[in-house]
Amino acid sequence: MEYALAYPQIDPVITRSHVKLKNDLEVDLKISDPDDWGSMLQHFTGSKMHNIRLRTLAKERGLSLSEDGILEKEKLHRFKTETDFQSYEKSVKNRGIKLLIGLEVDIRPEGDFALSDKLMATLDYAIVSIHSAFDNTVAKNTERIITALSHPKALILGHPTGRIINHRQSLSADWEKVFAFCVKNHKLMEVNAYPDRLDLPDDLIKTALGKGVKLIINTDSHKAEQMNHMKYGVWQARKGYAMKRDVVNSLTWQNLQTVLK
Ligand SMILES: [Zn+2]
Repeated sequence: MEYALAYPQIDPVITRSHVKLKNDLEVDLKISDPDDWGSMLQHFTGSKMHNIRLRTLAKERGLSLSEDGILEKEKLHRFKTETDFQSYEKSVKNRGIKLLIGLEVDIRPEGDFALSDKLMATLDYAIVSIHSAFDNTVAKNTERIITALSHPKALILGHPTGRIINHRQSLSADWEKVFAFCVKNHKLMEVNAYPDRLDLPDDLIKTALGKGVKLIINTDSHKAEQMNHMKYGVWQARKGYAMKRDVVNSLTWQNLQTVLK
């Protein structure tokens, strides 16, 4: 601790375990036994919510989690590295957490992807979206969308019309035809919650629902705090008369698996 406190950028020492640096950053100082390093790193570098969730999961299994490690029937499991901690985490069965690998993939003008098939194959699902060449004819846009959605990994059409409110108009497509394709092939339409997208627009949500299309609400987050945009997507879906049963976000894991097939 004396060694750490001698760091020349410290100004001032607030307590022996909490200091302020000359660049205004505040820093917590912790010292651990090398054998507990993994546990401590896990404890102090995860988000608060992540730690609370981990503790709850541990408690449900009769374990107790702290910065020292995991206590199981009076026995303390200590972790030297973060990887050790993660492999223990994996070994605890039925944790109730399911992880899916999804990716937003750009649809190029001809309806093919900016990602190779080899990489597409590593995904559980792809959100496919248009980010260029918005000014094509209705026929060309429709074909481009349907070609893209025909790929077996393409599950969701992201921000379907490409509109940016007050900045870019929706692209023109034969939406009835796109929606019919989605119903037949179990593809989803995104309701993008990003405040200047809100895409699908409400009138198209209503048309899609009338055809039996299922929706997924996504925040399109580029930063963690944008996860809070979810409510705008929910409101947008409601504006298009969507009910819980129309939105795959509300499915149980078991039912979601049938959507992912
Ligand atoms: Zn996008």
